[in-house]
Amino acid sequence: MTLRFFGAGGAFSRRYGTTCSQITLRDGSRWLIDCGRQAPDQLHAAGVSWHDIHGQIITHVHGDHIFGLEDFAFSRYFHADRGVPSVVDGGPRPLLVCHRAVREEVWQTMAAALRYVPEPEAPTSGTLDTYFEVVEPFQADALLPEGWASAEHFESGQLRLVARDTEHVPGKPSTSLEIHVGDGPQDDRIAWWSGDVTVMPELLEQLEPRTTVFFHDCTFTEYPGQVHGSFQALEALPESLRRKIVLMHHEDDLEEHRARAEELGFRIALPGHVYDLGSGQRLG
Ligand SMILES: [Zn+2]
Ligand SMILES: [Zn+2]
Repeated sequence: MTLRFFGAGGAFSRRYGTTCSQITLRDGSRWLIDCGRQAPDQLHAAGVSWHDIHGQIITHVHGDHIFGLEDFAFSRYFHADRGVPSVVDGGPRPLLVCHRAVREEVWQTMAAALRYVPEPEAPTSGTLDTYFEVVEPFQADALLPEGWASAEHFESGQLRLVARDTEHVPGKPSTSLEIHVGDGPQDDRIAWWSGDVTVMPELLEQLEPRTTVFFHDCTFTEYPGQVHGSFQALEALPESLRRKIVLMHHEDDLEEHRARAEELGFRIALPGHVYDLGSGQRLG
């Protein structure tokens, strides 16, 4: 199983691109994690067609994570490519995996574009299901005070993951991903993907023994009401954790801080980097 970064930068990054990565499972099926506003161009530049993609995972709704999704939905709906027919011509819909509270916000954001479908009797009857095969969780953990599950568990083909609500913007559903990378159901190793998150040392330490690699949101800018992975908090983590962490979603000031980060054992994600999720090591 591998993970390839298309975009590795934060919300305002121009140099490293907004978030979009591709996971390739053992059977060769490809999933995207998030689909930021630059995703259509990032995929194009990498020679990847929307029609190569089996499914989409969404961590939360911010433009740098989902504003490429309309392009994905309409391209698959109306166009054929790489031998895959359009959805209107009976082609397969890409799968969609996200926590149900996030899914609701995805639809709130996309509805104004996606509800219009070429059906004369019902021109505004489009839903997420029109464009995507929405995967329901097979398990939901205890409800949070906000009214949604603290974590939802998904399985689709060879993909197994937990979308866990983690701290980003207060009151907003936003999830990290625990992606199963074990060799079988008994092997519970995961790769962890933060989405956008503040540093949660207890959660990281609890997951560490079975985690091959942590991809962690990182910002070098301190401000009150921090909603990202503050580098100050990241550098205070134990070394055993730091050595498993790949910093991502950084802004364009990365080079000013890079030497210090690498000295502490962190690795840095850049567009085009590929990781083997089983070993947590970078391939290229
Ligand atoms: Zn973001
Ligand atoms: Zn965000």
